[in-house]
Amino acid sequence: MSLALNGIGVSRGIAIGKVHLIQRGKLEIPEYALAPKAIEAEVERFTKALQTSKQQLQAIRRRIPSNTPTDIAAFIDTHLLMLDDAMLRDEPIRMIRSDARNAEWALKGQRDALVAIFDQMDDPYLRTRKDDVEHVISRIMRTLLSHESDSSDEEDLQGAIIIADDLTPADTVLMQSMEIAAFITESGGPLSHTAILARSLQIPAIVGCHNASRYILDGDQIIIDGKQGAIIVDPDARTLKHYRKQQREQKRFQAGLAKLKQKPAITLDGRKITLLANAELPEDIRLIKRIGADGIGLFRTEFLYMNRSDTPNEEQQFEAYHSVVKAMKGQPVTIRTLDLGADKEVDGCHFTKRLCSNPALGLRAIRLCLNEPGLFRPQLRAILRASASGAVRIMLPMISTLQEVIQTRQLIEQVKKELRDEQLPFDEQIAIGGMIEIPAAALSAHNFAKHLDFLSIGTNDLIQYTLAIDRIDDSVNYLYDPLHPAVLRLIQLTLQAGRGAKIPVSMCGEMASDPHYARLLLGLGLTEFSMQPSALLEQKQAINSANVIQFEAKVNRRIQRGSPEQIERLLTEINGD
Ligand code: PEP
Ligand code: MG
Repeated sequence: MSLALNGIGVSRGIAIGKVHLIQRGKLEIPEYALAPKAIEAEVERFTKALQTSKQQLQAIRRRIPSNTPTDIAAFIDTHLLMLDDAMLRDEPIRMIRSDARNAEWALKGQRDALVAIFDQMDDPYLRTRKDDVEHVISRIMRTLLSHESDSSDEEDLQGAIIIADDLTPADTVLMQSMEIAAFITESGGPLSHTAILARSLQIPAIVGCHNASRYILDGDQIIIDGKQGAIIVDPDARTLKHYRKQQREQKRFQAGLAKLKQKPAITLDGRKITLLANAELPEDIRLIKRIGADGIGLFRTEFLYMNRSDTPNEEQQFEAYHSVVKAMKGQPVTIRTLDLGADKEVDGCHFTKRLCSNPALGLRAIRLCLNEPGLFRPQLRAILRASASGAVRIMLPMISTLQEVIQTRQLIEQVKKELRDEQLPFDEQIAIGGMIEIPAAALSAHNFAKHLDFLSIGTNDLIQYTLAIDRIDDSVNYLYDPLHPAVLRLIQLTLQAGRGAKIPVSMCGEMASDPHYARLLLGLGLTEFSMQPSALLEQKQAINSANVIQFEAKVNRRIQRGSPEQIERLLTEINGD
């Protein structure tokens, strides 16, 4: 019988496939005694599980396309090295022999011992290595428990729909190379980086589907609708037919949008709109070029810091930025300086691992960078050096005081002097902008505008901080409302400040990707949208069908004074739905 479940749809698209359940840390571990003559066979079973795990990881490693940054492959290499380590091989074998017990029991004993050692470590960075050990052990354990001695489950994942309690952004990156059809997580919200990444990799995804793994079994056939957040388990023939038809229609719709690639974004009343793309990794550039974006409005550099055990040095960063700038062939590339902390923790950067009861309000983003020149300077040097090959702009995340801008400008001047002394080329006129993502910054945008060359509204955080709701906590997701009058007023103030100071203002939060808000934002005077590449053509279609002059006065009036109900009505009126 079919069963319908719901979660939060975070990346559109319909997928139909077989479920692969990932239940990390929830495995039932058996314990049993072995007869003396069975001991060596058990050691053999354990050794085989190690080999199988290794083959699985090697298979994943081979699937990573050659143009993927080396740090993503390094993540797999670390796990492969662990499989060869004596702590995971020799000690469990010793325990199987000395205690005459099964391999799962011995492996669990060794896991507990290692975890206890990691937990006692003072260094917060080393403590995080525990996750890697647990991942590798759970891979061996799964192999042991499912008695898969000669097959690689990763080989079978092509076209599968993954269900997991949670996934890291790193898992999501790997999914593309593994040709996963879609994923569902039990926790998480639409603004988590896993969700953002799913959209930019165009993997249909649903998050916050509590207890999905209780109702859906490994191997079940399911349909997911990543836009609606709907999941249908064991669909009947009629439902399957309906969704297959929808899948075909979506493909046709996408093909229709493709025709817009060469066309400019221009409203019916002749306003030229700039459509930029958000990027996380250098390989996003291929899609960005393919859809004909006008440039990059947000390059999230923190993704270069993920899946590695150290921080990338100046040279590694320079190579990444330079490759993006070169590929964009003179189009603007807005490189955001490190936005680490809170929802963007990375393993290899110990700077963010401070204990703090409220990380979203703690030492993160520009605050962290200014506090850690050792982290910030190499990045600024790398960005400036990359600026010699194209139109680079530097963007500062989470600014809250003018002092931060002034201090960063001084640091940039020092770095420029160093580069001049070393005769390394860079763009002397490089534009420096700031993200408006804190209510205080929006309210004083006119002051920031005097000290910056451009502003960019980060609605993901602006909404989080204005409405005091954690952007990745699905239990308060129902309060996450881009149409809240307070949010719209802050957007309006920022756009007015930009016009007053004659500097460009763009929007790079997820709100800029949604065609539902296109007319509202155009009415407020937004002329630069930066978004996940997969949304760009649909947004262009919405923009090209808007006659802004017809509704801009109404939009601006209503947003200054309107109640939430009046704003809802306004949206219905201007969108004509
Ligand atoms: C934002 O906050 O809107 C934004 C674009 O930055 P991020 O999502 O990376 O925090
Ligand atoms: Mg942000």
